[in-house]
Amino acid sequence: EAMLQLDGLTKGYLQGTPGAVEVLRGIDLTLSAGETVALVAPSGAGKSTLLHIAGLLDTPDAGRVVIAGQDMSGKGDRARTAMRRQDIGFIYQFHHLLPEFTAAENVILPQLANGAGRAAAAARAAELLDRVGLSARAGHRPAELSGGEQQRVAFCRALANRPRVLLADEPTGNLDPETSDRVFGALMALVAETGLAALIATHNMELAARMDRVVRLDNGRIEPGPV
Ligand code: ADP
Ligand code: ADP
Repeated sequence: EAMLQLDGLTKGYLQGTPGAVEVLRGIDLTLSAGETVALVAPSGAGKSTLLHIAGLLDTPDAGRVVIAGQDMSGKGDRARTAMRRQDIGFIYQFHHLLPEFTAAENVILPQLANGAGRAAAAARAAELLDRVGLSARAGHRPAELSGGEQQRVAFCRALANRPRVLLADEPTGNLDPETSDRVFGALMALVAETGLAALIATHNMELAARMDRVVRLDNGRIEPGPV
């Protein structure tokens, strides 16, 4: 079952000017439910552009983004925002947790924004934090947590609304190699339990090799990755 489908995506910037660039030149990529795919791209290849379009934060010049069978091309802001809140989880290189809220509150808030009740949201947050070994840290603010702990909280936040698609941009790129390895294991375990489709950009080939499939973004197209 296709969960995230990118069909013929093209995107350029500054068209009609001397600085015009064609960043995406026909991206075709399909992720099934439960599939983890590593996206490897040299700097400037268009990784952020691709993740933003897949995450409905930006629109392509041509092509389609289909999420859980729903073609999002031509949909308005409301439908795109609703889909983004409910069905797409984002993880960034830097955690972007809200500094004045605790770990638990950071996982609860997106659920409230999505219409969940407070008790259910708190229970879900406690369950997720427990699964990544952070029960004892639930009441701490981000500044009181280590980098690896902050990033694990960010994973819990991304998965709080039970999204069907996870998009991650260097999710452990900010951590030392040993912590990165451990924290990445926590992420893979969460993903395996939820059965969502995960597209995870990374420069780390060891981490990439732990995913179901590796693809390379090269010259505006998706190529099979190194094996
Ligand atoms: P990556 O994330 O792989 O480093 P990006 O998607 O950020 O790549 O950018 C790909 C290319 O598109 C780069 O050459 C970048 O300079 C250009 N680019 C990205 N965003 C814009 C923009 N808003 N306006 C003009 N050029 C842009
Ligand atoms: P909220 O529910 O707080 O209003 P949005 O609906 O705007 O948030 O966005 C939903 C998701 O998209 C959030 O996870 C948010 O972090 C992410 N997001 C929103 N805008 C951007 C952006 N410009 N760049 C990266 N991620 C974004």
